[in-house]
Amino acid sequence: MKADLHVHSVYSRDAISKPQSILAAAADRGIGIIAITDHDTAEGWNPVLQAAKRYPVQIVLGQEIKVFKGGEVVGELLGLFLKTPVASGAVHGVMAEIRRRASSDDAPLSRMQ
Ligand SMILES: [Zn+2]
Repeated sequence: MKADLHVHSVYSRDAISKPQSILAAAADRGIGIIAITDHDTAEGWNPVLQAAKRYPVQIVLGQEIKVFKGGEVVGELLGLFLKTPVASGAVHGVMAEIRRRASSDDAPLSRMQ
């Protein structure tokens, strides 16, 4: 099965694709799993989960999270399999939050029923 684990939606500052378009494009290309990883927001999680009901595509909830060191942005981390959103912050703090908030149970792929 094909997967794309780094997908931005209209809820990111640098993307224009709406959830419906993302799911349709994934299904057309035979991609069975996508991770929604918008910049510093989980605002798109529910709209993407809603749109996914109509497509044979499973959703991984994620974020691309800005990290700081000494008050300056030093990069971004990709958090996958998140249960709740992670806020921007210091690198090690964000890494710890990703580990803490990521699913480690029996349901790594989310699909709203
Ligand atoms: Zn990105």
